[in-house]
Amino acid sequence: MTADVDCVVLGAGVIGLACARELAMNGLDILLAEAEAMPGTGISSRNSEVIHAGLYYPEGSLKARLCVQGKNLLYDYCAERGVAHRRIGKWIVATQGEQLPALRAIERQGQCNGVHDLHWLTQEQARAQEPELRCVAVLASPSTGIVDSHGLMQALQADASNHGAQFVFNTPFIEGHVSDAGHFVLQFGGKDPARITSRSVVNATGLSAPDVARRLAGQPAGAIPRAYYCKGSYFTLAGRAPFSRLIYPLPDAAGLGVHLTLDLGGQARFGPDVQWVERSDHSFDPGRAPLFEQAIRQYWPRLPDKALQPGYTGIRPKITCAGQPAADFIIAGPATHGVARLVNLFGIESPGLTASLAIARAARQALASGA
Ligand SMILES: Cc1cc2nc3c(=O)[nH]c(=O)nc-3n(C[C@H](O)[C@H](O)[C@H](O)COP(=O)(O)OP(=O)(O)OC[C@H]3O[C@@H](n4cnc5c(N)ncnc54)[C@H](O)[C@@H]3O)c2cc1C
Repeated sequence: MTADVDCVVLGAGVIGLACARELAMNGLDILLAEAEAMPGTGISSRNSEVIHAGLYYPEGSLKARLCVQGKNLLYDYCAERGVAHRRIGKWIVATQGEQLPALRAIERQGQCNGVHDLHWLTQEQARAQEPELRCVAVLASPSTGIVDSHGLMQALQADASNHGAQFVFNTPFIEGHVSDAGHFVLQFGGKDPARITSRSVVNATGLSAPDVARRLAGQPAGAIPRAYYCKGSYFTLAGRAPFSRLIYPLPDAAGLGVHLTLDLGGQARFGPDVQWVERSDHSFDPGRAPLFEQAIRQYWPRLPDKALQPGYTGIRPKITCAGQPAADFIIAGPATHGVARLVNLFGIESPGLTASLAIARAARQALASGA
């Protein structure tokens, strides 16, 4: 008996779309199934849209390797496919002398990760370019940029479609198992419940990836991490942006700190902050504004009162809990869970957007590594 398709990709966020494109362009017959009515309604449309340089992640980690590789792939891809982006640059700002050792540590980490274009600015040099900035020194990252995440996802979907990939929406994966013939038998819900057989599966369901993996029979429970949810809120700025590049404070134990990013229209937004929550809930709490104001005024003392407007929230798909170090990306192929031709993508938090094309390549290789 033959399977309906070579591979089912679950989830149409930036990662599932990049995987569908990668696999379709390598000659596989692909079906991508998405629970929602359209692509990119999950984490992929609730982030900072920053193309990260690859500074913060431990040397040799997947996050470090795939971020640097993915950044280069993404800049080339955006240029080739006309996806809006800008290599706008980012400054990491020390606001007190005692933060300088931490800033030097970020420089060293970046160099270890293959980011070789970092340079320093004194307070005077920085203020000459950004008069509103309060700082004692700046570490500049010229290869950091911004990208239109929706434009990127549209381009990925179009490429996949042009290579024969099929897309079905409103089609949530319910459960699956491996048949005696060695094919995945997958049950989908929605208005028209369907059963599809496939030779292979990529689970790119973001926040739901651990839950989806548990519903695919045959994997040892120990191979599937527990999901934790870490919410980040964004406020936008009423009026003109005070800076012409991305401004980041020093990271703290919880995250990268409340930073300023610009969208491609030039509007400034601040965030995301860090709030551990029990479930995936995107409600916005305007009461967080005073905490943001306090953090922002460390590097922008002239932030006017009441200039912050409620923005949006995103949820980080964590696989370690509050207080534990952030986990690396997990690209779990047959070597991890013992099921041939299955890849689960767990913990694809930041820099997942930057790394999306590199993650897709790694997922294809992981798929190919299991008979
Ligand atoms: C606050 C925040 C800021 C970030 N900022 C950046 C940044 O600036 N730069 C960067 O590089 N990265 C950033 N990231 C990370 C980046 O956004 C993610 O790594 C990336 O979007 C993850 O994409 P995904 O496709 O895995 O998940 P998603 O986009 O969530 O896609 C998963 C899809 O699976 C679908 N799905 C779920 N369950 C099922 C099911 N049972 N059946 C079928 N489909 C299902 C969902 O509906 C969804 O469409 C940020 C993340 C957060 C939370």
